[in-house]
Amino acid sequence: MHYISTRGQAPDLSFEEAMLTGLARDGGLYVPQTIPALSPDQIAALAGKSYEDIAFEVMRPFIGETFTDAEFKALIAKAYSGFGHAARAPLVQLAPNHFLLELFHGPTLAFKDFAMQLIGQMFQAALGRSGKRVTIVGATSGDTGSAAIEAFRGLSNVDVFILYPHGRISEVQRRQMTTPVEDNVHALAVDGDFDDCQAMVKDMFNDFAFREAVSLAGVNSINWGRVLAQVVYYFTSAVSLGAPHRQVSFTVPTGNFGDIFAGYIAKKMGLPVERLVIATNQNDILHRCLENGDYTKLGVVPTISPSMDIEVSSNFERALYFAHDRDGAAVVGLMDELKTGGGFRISQNAMSALRTHYDSGMADEPTTSRTITTALAETGELLCPHSAVAVHVGNQHVRRHPDVPMITLATAHPAKFPAAVEEATGHHPPLPPGMADLYERSERVTRVANDLAAIQAIITERTAT
Ligand SMILES: *Cc1c(COP(=O)(O)O)cnc(C)c1O
Repeated sequence: MHYISTRGQAPDLSFEEAMLTGLARDGGLYVPQTIPALSPDQIAALAGKSYEDIAFEVMRPFIGETFTDAEFKALIAKAYSGFGHAARAPLVQLAPNHFLLELFHGPTLAFKDFAMQLIGQMFQAALGRSGKRVTIVGATSGDTGSAAIEAFRGLSNVDVFILYPHGRISEVQRRQMTTPVEDNVHALAVDGDFDDCQAMVKDMFNDFAFREAVSLAGVNSINWGRVLAQVVYYFTSAVSLGAPHRQVSFTVPTGNFGDIFAGYIAKKMGLPVERLVIATNQNDILHRCLENGDYTKLGVVPTISPSMDIEVSSNFERALYFAHDRDGAAVVGLMDELKTGGGFRISQNAMSALRTHYDSGMADEPTTSRTITTALAETGELLCPHSAVAVHVGNQHVRRHPDVPMITLATAHPAKFPAAVEEATGHHPPLPPGMADLYERSERVTRVANDLAAIQAIITERTAT
């Protein structure tokens, strides 16, 4: 299994190399050269199996020779052992044909744990074998960083630096990043927004001298290993509703497009997915783009669903690559326009390719809040604001297409965003046991200017041996 860049100008890599590298050297994102398929019989045979067994069957064809079957099974088992629910990703019913996939039972209470816990295990196994040391640098709008720090804290071959926008993440998110005591954990609070943080991480990857000097590795949602780990719960949930014999649709609260792109891969592998519905908050660049083909930045506004306050949706590049029939040059053209002109227009052909798979919808702030209130009253389900954005958009879609079961992804635990949840419901959502002392632990963080050179200097200094 080979991985190629969406911009067509970087070397092909193995799964292990693509995972350890993150971003390709031409600025592109790695995608598998071919997408392996599971037959309807193979999909049917997943019914009734454990999350871990399905994870093995779904991911095995993508990892090539990187791990033996026995090793890979052991890594999967360890990755999910710390989850607070035996089903790992339980499915609950909201309405006659609308289901909620709870992806927030991992150690940092957001769906990012599904990918990050597995990546942590895979990094440790691969680096342990080679004796190499890497520096992980990531940008976060809140949940990626906490999941990454939780997955990599204390690992001997890794330093982890996380850039987050100062003052723009929830207190629980911040504390999950600033309270781990291990020396290999470095939380950096940047005076800027998430797109600033993400742009600086991209620039560090494009600074090849720096990249070599500190052995940079990326675990942002562009990392192929993360997308792959997220493909699994599309299978577990669809199969539990009768796939491959019955179609399903998914609504996904979307920011960087990693989660929903995993749904596209599941579809390409043979899962009968009718629609993949992109749900955005007021930062609705993806929704506008699906409506009229125009991807133009307007500026990010802070919302109560901060993990989706994004305008440069990095994994959308992968969707564009497939919508342009794997034409790397076309992707380079669009990305250049985005960088220089702040936006691009998508051709008619590519738009119809996107519309074959994706739909979209948006929830503004009052709607999001109201959805939290009504979901609690009507179903007893306490939603985080991101999940509420998606439930609203999922409801709209179910009304228009009542025959296909809808699975809406719930991406974070309500206790991770207590202010918005309390405002909407009057209930203060408690943290699960084991995390209850989070507010008492002491914090450790470095405040930094929105300045690439200054941040690179900190990383160089702290990783010098
Ligand atoms: C990261 C995140 C999202 C967005 O996921 P993408 O893969 O970036 O589209 C949605 N909800 C929550 C709670 C998140 O942490």
